Amino acid sequence: MQNESVDVLIIGAGPSGAVSAAYLHKQGLKVKVVEKSKFPRFVIGESLLPRCMDHFEEVGLLEALKEKNFEVKGGARFMRGDRICNFDFSKKYTDGWDWTWQVPRADFDKTLTDTLIDWGVDIAFEQEVVGVDFKGSDSITTIKDIDGSLSAIEAKFIVDSSGHGRVLPRLLDLEKPSEIGKHSSIFTHVKDVNRPEGREGTIITFDIVSLDTWLWVIPFSNGLTSLGYVGPTEYLESFEGDHTEKLQEMMKLSDYYYDRFEGLNYEFEPRIIKNIAKSVKQLYGEGYVLTGNSAEFLDPVFSSGVTFATESSLCAAKLIAKQLRGEQVNWEKDYSDYMKEGVEVFATYVKEWYTGNLQTIFFDSNDNPVIKAQICAVLAGYVWDRTNPFVKNHHRLVKTVARIAEMEKETKGQEN
Ligand SMILES: Cc1cc2nc3c(=O)[nH]c(=O)nc-3n(C[C@H](O)[C@H](O)[C@H](O)COP(=O)(O)OP(=O)(O)OC[C@H]3O[C@@H](n4cnc5c(N)ncnc54)[C@H](O)[C@@H]3O)c2cc1C
Repeated sequence: MQNESVDVLIIGAGPSGAVSAAYLHKQGLKVKVVEKSKFPRFVIGESLLPRCMDHFEEVGLLEALKEKNFEVKGGARFMRGDRICNFDFSKKYTDGWDWTWQVPRADFDKTLTDTLIDWGVDIAFEQEVVGVDFKGSDSITTIKDIDGSLSAIEAKFIVDSSGHGRVLPRLLDLEKPSEIGKHSSIFTHVKDVNRPEGREGTIITFDIVSLDTWLWVIPFSNGLTSLGYVGPTEYLESFEGDHTEKLQEMMKLSDYYYDRFEGLNYEFEPRIIKNIAKSVKQLYGEGYVLTGNSAEFLDPVFSSGVTFATESSLCAAKLIAKQLRGEQVNWEKDYSDYMKEGVEVFATYVKEWYTGNLQTIFFDSNDNPVIKAQICAVLAGYVWDRTNPFVKNHHRLVKTVARIAEMEKETKGQEN
């Protein structure tokens, strides 16, 4: 078996792997990215949050992305029946980016890897990590190429950015059940030939068809639109037929969007991902770190996946560079605690979405601009800003504000 030796081996070339590769390469470290598929490849996760723009900018990948003219996302619209709640990122509480993109990930991720390759980063496509042996913090990783031949890579550190592949969680038995309920998703792309002119045609929308089932509509600048439902696994399974028939049937649940997408051919047979939420027992160990989806995934409802992927991989890359320079690193405090702080905030919002409390705030409360700006900052991904009461007191504030909204609604009902 051929042996190669690098400072840092990164598993997976999605946004998480790309951001850590960019940072570590610029630090002068010998980096190798091993990617199972051939890019461009389809992956779900198309609605970004403003916070991830900070990460792409910091590692120098933003300019290449800007050239692609992806659809700009300046906020998001949530709708439930005739109730509409719009968030405008320019009105958020925390300073930071007030726009981002909604992107076909095949093009987006390829732009990232093309840029890295131009910089001289070594990315090996169609190479799958199939085994890892650790000797202290050093490791030997076994790679299988598409012909089935094996090779080995020695590394001082491994970043597992393998997303849904969850390579190290599987190989090192790190998986643990998520606290988030069992939700599944079905999705595809369509040529959006009935797209209305102006903002209506391009705005990203979450159409809430029941407490725990919702449709995403994510228009792209290439004329395609992503459609997907998320709901309880059992409910999604109750729809009959093949994946196309299931999604066609589910589209009837959306009064608002049914006509726009009726009769359109799907660009590919809708895909289903079951029981989306994932968690792990630990986020790092001697000689490795888990970043992005490989570590934790909550729920797509607030589009936080890519942003956590890039936040975690940039944070991890900085700590790896420090450690390989011989400096002390406190992984527990500076990585695990830091990431968990942000994940916990989002986890509250996801849980409170499905209890209905957050939906009460979105759809039934008086539109208080201060509260809205603070929640908007969370939805933009700025979940480490503890000056924001909706970050600092996330555990109780969502519940309290929802309760007040319910009381106001009851009072109004009695007056009428
Ligand atoms: C239904 C659904 C909807 C979602 N919607 C959104 C959204 O709107 N916005 C959002 O931000 N996020 C969303 N997400 C989450 C999003 O998909 C992920 O958070 C994001 O892609 C994570 O990026 P990543 O770099 O960690 O992993 P990925 O982008 O998944 O990249 C991982 C890479 O690792 C490679 N790989 C896997 N196994 C191996 C192996 N053994 N060897 C080598 N390479 C390997 C894969 O081929 C892949 O290219 C959604 C998720 C789901 C399930």
